[in-house]
Amino acid sequence: MYKLDSFMAELEKRNPAQPEFLQAAREILESIIDVANDNPMYEKFKILERITEPDRIYSFRVEWEDDQGNIQVNRGHRVQFNNALGPYKGGLRFHPSLSLGTLKFLGLEQTLKNSLTTLPMGGAKGGSDFNPRGKSDGEILRFCRSFMTELEKYIGPNTDVPAGDMGVGMREIGYMYGQFKRIRNEHTGVLTGKNLNFGGSLIRPEATGFGSMYFANQMLMANNDIFAGKRISVSGFGNVAWGAVMKATELGAKAVTISGPDGYIYDEEGVGTPEKWAFMSYLRASNNDVVEPYAKKFGAKFVPNKKPWEVPVDMAFPCAIQNELTLEDAKTLVANGVKCVVETSNMGCTADATIYLIDNKILFGPGKAANAGGVAVSGLEMSQNAMHISWSAEEVDAKLHDIMVNIHASCVREGTQADGYINYLKGANIAGFKKVADAMVLMGY
Ligand code: GLU
Repeated sequence: MYKLDSFMAELEKRNPAQPEFLQAAREILESIIDVANDNPMYEKFKILERITEPDRIYSFRVEWEDDQGNIQVNRGHRVQFNNALGPYKGGLRFHPSLSLGTLKFLGLEQTLKNSLTTLPMGGAKGGSDFNPRGKSDGEILRFCRSFMTELEKYIGPNTDVPAGDMGVGMREIGYMYGQFKRIRNEHTGVLTGKNLNFGGSLIRPEATGFGSMYFANQMLMANNDIFAGKRISVSGFGNVAWGAVMKATELGAKAVTISGPDGYIYDEEGVGTPEKWAFMSYLRASNNDVVEPYAKKFGAKFVPNKKPWEVPVDMAFPCAIQNELTLEDAKTLVANGVKCVVETSNMGCTADATIYLIDNKILFGPGKAANAGGVAVSGLEMSQNAMHISWSAEEVDAKLHDIMVNIHASCVREGTQADGYINYLKGANIAGFKKVADAMVLMGY
């Protein structure tokens, strides 16, 4: 019999100083421990021990030259977490705070998330402590080349297919793809999130945000409510937030906030107009990571150094970074009448915030289910590359929608409680886990 406390104690001993990894692992184990004990094959095959230990981790030095001619040194990693269901798949994050513990949490989450999509993808994550903020285009290019010169040794279209994450967008993917092609003389689907000109998929940039709204729409429908007319808050102002706001607006909701590292914008008129989003793209491209100029341009309110969770809304969508919504924020949201919180960033809520929301019977969409649309369209990009074809935006969007509806159905199947409350967190963890665990048993040890 697996016991949560002794299993976690051992995991803590083996992974000291990796709080985010331990947080993600505990959240999963709490959901699945009974399921794991119901099937004696799981313990016999040491599935919990194996599923919480990455298959392998590569760490490497990345040196590059800045615009002043100085050599800079960063650290790169690729955590190949689990490939029971398909080639390793997951994004690359460039962020100064990035540590191996963060990547291990993201790799574990990615393993279950990719399982939920039903596409044949294992889980991985990688990145660097390189800070893209304020860097020139030339510096980004030289860093990406150097990073790929090392990463190239460990990846391939049937081995491991990286993509973007925070700090890595289409430009960075293009530079890395160019270097891969230069070294290997191969034009394959080794990265996703590529430009459309060389194998990228339509809808990929918007997919995470779109998928999250499709998921939220299903959540409301399953609870006899409708999406149209809802007021929502969104954090972040990158690709993910952009896709979320666009789709929310299309579905008839009004997004009233976005945020950056400098604070948040409160725009009662709604942030989802093409003109406003063009301006946000311009702000992002200017590489300063600030949202304040939006307030002056569009007559909205700017609240410095705060997150948008104090604004009363029906639904809240953390779209920026892990643990961005705390217990305090959850209490404020609940006091202000929130109905639904949907993690569109990975592990957007702290552990105590998640527990508080679920205890208060708020509809809670966990990141590994709600934000799976991004990697799902990456999976569709792999299919298109393998077949040497490209699908129309309508085809990709329809497939994305189906995938999100299916993920929702899996959560309902595994997470509906006796009192009728759908515990999406539990449902997503159980559904994602079972598929990986069963595949591992079927393949032996
Ligand atoms: N970084 C995204 C995620 O967290 C996408 C990964 C991918 O497309 O491979 O799921």
